[in-house]
Amino acid sequence: MKGQTAIITGAGRGIGKAIGESLAGRGVNVVVVDVNLDMAKEAASDLEKLGIRSIGLKADVSNSAEVGSLFEAAQKEFGKVEILVNNAGITRDGLIMRMKEEDWDAVMNINLKGTFLCSRDAVKMMAKQRYGRIINIASVVAFMGNPGQANYSASKAGIVGLTKTLAKEYASRSLTVNAVAPGFIATAMTEVLADNVKQEMMKSIPMSRFGTAQDVANAVVFFASPDSGYITGQVIHVNGGMYM
Ligand code: NAP
Repeated sequence: MKGQTAIITGAGRGIGKAIGESLAGRGVNVVVVDVNLDMAKEAASDLEKLGIRSIGLKADVSNSAEVGSLFEAAQKEFGKVEILVNNAGITRDGLIMRMKEEDWDAVMNINLKGTFLCSRDAVKMMAKQRYGRIINIASVVAFMGNPGQANYSASKAGIVGLTKTLAKEYASRSLTVNAVAPGFIATAMTEVLADNVKQEMMKSIPMSRFGTAQDVANAVVFFASPDSGYITGQVIHVNGGMYM
């Protein structure tokens, strides 16, 4: 993997940042994408300390023009991009009766449409190279459902369908498209949950601990590596046994 280039969306913090560190540890150059330019640049400069090349770019993954510019900038800087990790994601929780249309749209646009837009630009580049790895970050709730997360679980279930379809469309060009479905991972996204919600969650995890961003990054690195070349359209669940 040394010398390859990865684009990771939402990599300014959390799981995306850990994925960047793990790929950088294997010699992969990293394009850190975030809505917040300062966070993207800071994460990129941290990654450069690991001895690879990294740039931080601002892009809202739900905006096709910004996604287009991002891929142009990455190609200009690195020539080729072998790996795309669609990690950017948000929650806007609420029971469906009270869910605002704007909260449904925001989650769908960033989580699902963002994955579509970035994948569409990536496959154009990767199909020509006849090599590529796309890894989409789904969620355990795509498979289990979760009260209060109709928008989020639907967006993540959509990502699983998208993953399988792209896997079939591009298998003949040696592109693999897979998903990682994290369970409950300790990041800023879950930090905001009430203590009683966290305690209830913990009861449903056979391993009796929340996952770490590194647990998710380990699975992503496997899908990003040449070692997983005969595996496509699959989902690895990283959830401590919460869903089997
Ligand atoms: P996080 O700490 O909130 O990080 C999400 C990142 O995405 C942030 O850097 C955020 O930027 C960025 N982002 C948000 N909207 C964006 C947009 N429109 N365009 C580009 N970047 C955007 O969340 P996380 O826990 O690391 O989650 C990462 C992924 O894992 C998400 O897809 C999430 O759904 C999934 N996941 C997480 C868990 C969990 O338990 N944590 C479980 C299952 C799945 P700003 O900080 O600047 O807003």
